[in-house]
Amino acid sequence: MFEKISDQTIQQVKNYNGIVDFIQQYLTLKKRGQNYIGLCPFHGEKTPSFTVSPQKQIFHCFGCHESGDLIAFAQKIDNLTFYEAIEVIANFANIDVVREQSSKEMKQHYNQLERTLACFSQASDVFRSMLNESQFAKDYFAKRQLSQESIDMFGLGCCGSSKQLFDALKVLNVSEADLVSSGLFSKNQQDIYCRFQHRVIFPIADYQSRIVGFGARITDPTSNAAKYVNSEESKLFNKRKLLYGLSYAKQSIKQQKCVLLVEGYMDVIMCSQYGFQNVVACMGTSLTVDQVQLIKRLTDSVVIMFDNDKAGQTATKRSIEILLQENMNVNVVSMDQMDPADFLLQFGADALKEKLAESVSAFQFFYSFLKSDLDISNINHVSKLVTDVLPILKCISDDVVRSHYICLMAQDLKINEEVIVAKMDELLYNKTQDYSIKLDTNKVGKNKYQKAEETILAVICINLDLREYLKGVDLTIFITPFIKSLTEYVINSNELDGVLLENTSAEFKSSLGNILMLATQYDTQMIQKNVFFDCLNVLSKQKFTQDINQLKEQIKLYEESGNETELEKVMAELDQKKKGGIYEYKY
Ligand SMILES: [Zn+2]
Repeated sequence: MFEKISDQTIQQVKNYNGIVDFIQQYLTLKKRGQNYIGLCPFHGEKTPSFTVSPQKQIFHCFGCHESGDLIAFAQKIDNLTFYEAIEVIANFANIDVVREQSSKEMKQHYNQLERTLACFSQASDVFRSMLNESQFAKDYFAKRQLSQESIDMFGLGCCGSSKQLFDALKVLNVSEADLVSSGLFSKNQQDIYCRFQHRVIFPIADYQSRIVGFGARITDPTSNAAKYVNSEESKLFNKRKLLYGLSYAKQSIKQQKCVLLVEGYMDVIMCSQYGFQNVVACMGTSLTVDQVQLIKRLTDSVVIMFDNDKAGQTATKRSIEILLQENMNVNVVSMDQMDPADFLLQFGADALKEKLAESVSAFQFFYSFLKSDLDISNINHVSKLVTDVLPILKCISDDVVRSHYICLMAQDLKINEEVIVAKMDELLYNKTQDYSIKLDTNKVGKNKYQKAEETILAVICINLDLREYLKGVDLTIFITPFIKSLTEYVINSNELDGVLLENTSAEFKSSLGNILMLATQYDTQMIQKNVFFDCLNVLSKQKFTQDINQLKEQIKLYEESGNETELEKVMAELDQKKKGGIYEYKY
């Protein structure tokens, strides 16, 4: 499936004029005049600015300025390479895919991916068959009260021993090299072994239902080993872009017009066993923008069902912020210190239905949660509550909804609505300020440009999208060589936050640590984005001034030496530069 596709097929795909039909798979389009419009899948919006032209066979978003042809759409929406996109469109349009010899490297790369997928699919079969002979796994699933139907549907299995798995895959002609390169097996001097041994296995599929990795859980409660082990991160297995259960839940989410978001694999399976099919779980991390984009293809309503423990609360808050920023409707079900799986086993499906009916808006959930610790007859507590609630309020992009909550809050706390609005404005206004200037004010001797550099670096440590954007920026706008090299280091890494420090050289480590501390103040994507572009433009302006001054210096020198040819050249260059103006970085 990954081999190079012939030019003839590519041409047929390019000639295919079904852009409207294809895009309709991902979002609802309405005809307006000659074009079709809908809600942009690439940025959060309430009023449609995503436009598809059947005449020109292109799309364009007036909100985020994303545009292109059908192939570009397919690539962008599913994060596909050009050839993968061609393949997907060809399948959709019933075009026969003709393959040809590709370059050796390409062929190797695609073959590798193909073999890894084949390896996962075969391993998944072996894990399933091992379940019949593994008492520990059968006992575990029985204890968790999973039905045979659920076990079959989600392809659950177990890994008895490394050796057993290795031998079984050998019989299926999977090479040792593939076992290692797929990440399924690790190798040391004496031994080749699977990290999943003595664990129950949950296969993890991507949006197109291909098995791209595994989650493995330990069943012995007395063991000191990590409770869950996942496949290693790779091009195929990117936890930030996967949702457990999504491949099974797609249809149901569309029908119910809503998705239930839970924390664990077991929650997904148990919900499904009790008849709630529209359920997915994030992959052990808090929800990411990429995951929200996957959900958005199917619905704009999310009901969060996380535990009420401290970790659950924090995860809920982070997820809510991201969902609200992406313009989703978010409700929260209070699970009373239980996870959905245990709740269903104890109280049954009807009780969960009641819970779902009692779900409250994300804002109400947080407001009550924060309020429960405070004494609102104490004015200091009231002030704290208002301050704590504002970040959530700020994420609500719909003004009407926001002012509704402000009104409710003012009534509840018996304070003047304008006080909240003023605080709110302060917060909203702040985001358009030049953050770089305010940063780090207690460090003497740093100028505004150095601060801007550090801020950009801080933000890309925590935001992969902006890191990706920075890859396309000419880093000569940086003026401090050390910060520039540190930035280049981060750009080339795939890690986020504290993990960045793990393999960092001593030279970089302490500075990067400082930068990461700096990063903590930019806690929402919106602020990160604003700060990032503010700072880029501060540097862009400085670079422009610096270039102009340099050219003027040169002109002076050539004037003095009487070198007319060079003088003319540089003057033309200066003219050109001035006409071009300051380059403005935009999202
Ligand atoms: Zn857009």
